[in-house]
Amino acid sequence: MTVAPTLPGAVTVRVPAKVNLELRVGPRRPDGFHALATVYQAVSLHDDVSIARWDDWQVVAAGTYADRIPTDGDNLAVRAARLVAERWDVDERLSIRIDKDIPVAGGMAGGSADAAAALVACDQLWGLGLDRDELAELAASLGSDVPFLLTGGNAMGSGRGEQLAPVLARGTFHWVFAVSDTGLSTPEVYAECDRLRERDGVRVGEPQISAELMAALRSGDPAALGAALHNDLEPAAFSLRPQLRELRDAGVEFGALGGVVSGSGPTVAFLTESHEAALDLSVSLAASALCRDLRRARGPVHGAQVVPVARTAD
Ligand code: ATP
Repeated sequence: MTVAPTLPGAVTVRVPAKVNLELRVGPRRPDGFHALATVYQAVSLHDDVSIARWDDWQVVAAGTYADRIPTDGDNLAVRAARLVAERWDVDERLSIRIDKDIPVAGGMAGGSADAAAALVACDQLWGLGLDRDELAELAASLGSDVPFLLTGGNAMGSGRGEQLAPVLARGTFHWVFAVSDTGLSTPEVYAECDRLRERDGVRVGEPQISAELMAALRSGDPAALGAALHNDLEPAAFSLRPQLRELRDAGVEFGALGGVVSGSGPTVAFLTESHEAALDLSVSLAASALCRDLRRARGPVHGAQVVPVARTAD
């Protein structure tokens, strides 16, 4: 990952991506969001968000996916920083540098991750001393996945995904992520999910996480977790992008313990037995030419954290 130079006095926060181990989508609520039950896991693909005082708002994008994110006020890190500035009456502007290594529009919550990182960075730079609840409230107002990226680890999400509860889990899991060149729009995938359900006369109740997934996490058994991976948005992602089904099936045939579309896709997440198995699977998938961009990661990892400033020689 390319690392652009940091401005003097900058605060840098490192933030992970997420994968949904299970995503159950309930009915559409009156506010337009769907009721969700999900289990998130934070994984070791990271963005670094650095902020420093500047004479205007500015975004500098660097790293693997730098050319795919907005560098104006639409950038979610800018929106998060401006929200903090308004709420705490801070009359300052920031230069925000994002080293972007989380796939964009891939169902891995990269924009939400940058928003979470910006909240933590502003709290540190401006010495606000925000507590967990204040940060979580700001995070939820920015997006459903933002609160989870603050905490990381494994967590259950309800409501529209923003209400978090801890889950009992043990072990480290090894993933291969098959990343697509072009993203899928989250609203379009939900709309397709609604369309398919209406077409097929599917009626859904309150979404529930399965006992199998919770047991698999408690045991730390990757084979059990692989068998329990589930995403209600998968049929919609497959309908919009049929080659994703072929990719998922190929990964499982090549030895993955399970394969599932991450969030609203199009990234496909494959769980493997070990680091070595993840390497083998990446080689097989690369040779199959079904996907060019393959990323390995482990989870769970912690959420957004300030990167300590490297000590210079005394
Ligand atoms: P989610 O899983 O939360 O629905 P995603 O992982 O599918 O999201 P993102 O990478 O968050 O998708 O990108 C969604 C949209 O947000 C893209 O169109 C992107 O241009 C925009 N965006 C705005 N700011 C950012 C940012 N800092 N990083 C990534 N995308 C951003």
